[in-house]
Amino acid sequence: MSEIVRRALFLAPGLAMASAVSAADRPVPRAVMVSTWDFGRVANAAGIEVRRARGSALDMVEAGGRVVESDPDNTSVGIGGYPDRDGRVTLDACVMNWNGDIGAVCALEDIAHPVSVARAVMEKTPHTMLVGEGARRFALDQAFETAVMPSPSAEAAWREWLKTSTYAPVSNRENTEWRSMPGGPGNHDTIGLLAIGLDGHMAGACTTSGLAFKMRGRVGDSPIIGAGLFVDDEVGAATATGVGEDVVRVAGSHAVVEAMRQGKSPTEACRSVIERLARLRGTAVADHQVAFLALSKSGEWGGWALQPGFTFAVTDASGATRVERAGSLFEAR
Ligand code: ASP
Repeated sequence: MSEIVRRALFLAPGLAMASAVSAADRPVPRAVMVSTWDFGRVANAAGIEVRRARGSALDMVEAGGRVVESDPDNTSVGIGGYPDRDGRVTLDACVMNWNGDIGAVCALEDIAHPVSVARAVMEKTPHTMLVGEGARRFALDQAFETAVMPSPSAEAAWREWLKTSTYAPVSNRENTEWRSMPGGPGNHDTIGLLAIGLDGHMAGACTTSGLAFKMRGRVGDSPIIGAGLFVDDEVGAATATGVGEDVVRVAGSHAVVEAMRQGKSPTEACRSVIERLARLRGTAVADHQVAFLALSKSGEWGGWALQPGFTFAVTDASGATRVERAGSLFEAR
């Protein structure tokens, strides 16, 4: 284990904890929707509208995911997503409902709303996951909206990247040069959404264009149930963002939910899985960003990350929303 991982894990927990928002600062006692990153705010606003119209938790997370997928300026989700190293945008998404119903699409091309296609896989096929050309054909058969990708600015970023063709996930975290790097601002970030409906049932969704300039055919954690998303209607739900290869290694979202089942709060559950990943991988993750976000069945929430800078949006039943900044294992460098 590297010195930096050892220090973060064993010697400086107080410092890492200091960056978390304390429970006393929170304006809302119970959340009904949480979503990753700052763009979770607009996602939650859409989800709450759906809840007011008596939509289900699944309707809430799908609506929120669609808003972010529609943003041409979002370079890591939906139509504005950065392409793979061959210049093709391949989208990954999944949904999970309270009763264990699941649906996912991987490496879906030319379709504007992968989160809705994932839901259709769940509701209209005997399967749980469709990939690549089969997923695309299914989406076209179901008359899902198409989109021309990459967007002009995503294509320009890819052409710039081609000049060096250096592949490295750029962590979205504080105090780095990521804004000026090819693929910046941040060349990955997924929207993961967790919600509690009016009937008390939970659902989740996760949608992404994955790591910018990834190998063709690469699939991350986001469409993998148990890794990018897991919902257990008895306990709570969790979602992940960051380097998907790391999340898959610890079946991250499932591990967070199981930690809650053992009695940990959402924040502590996320933190325990981040620490486990760091123990497992040592220096291999010292420069990566991985973050988890969790919502308990009773509406408690929390997140934790490897690196500082992970934010998430929290919304209560009235629609009041705040963006919080998660604590992290490593300190800002
Ligand atoms: N988890 C996503 C992936 O690996 C990327 C991200 O959330 O930053 O595809």
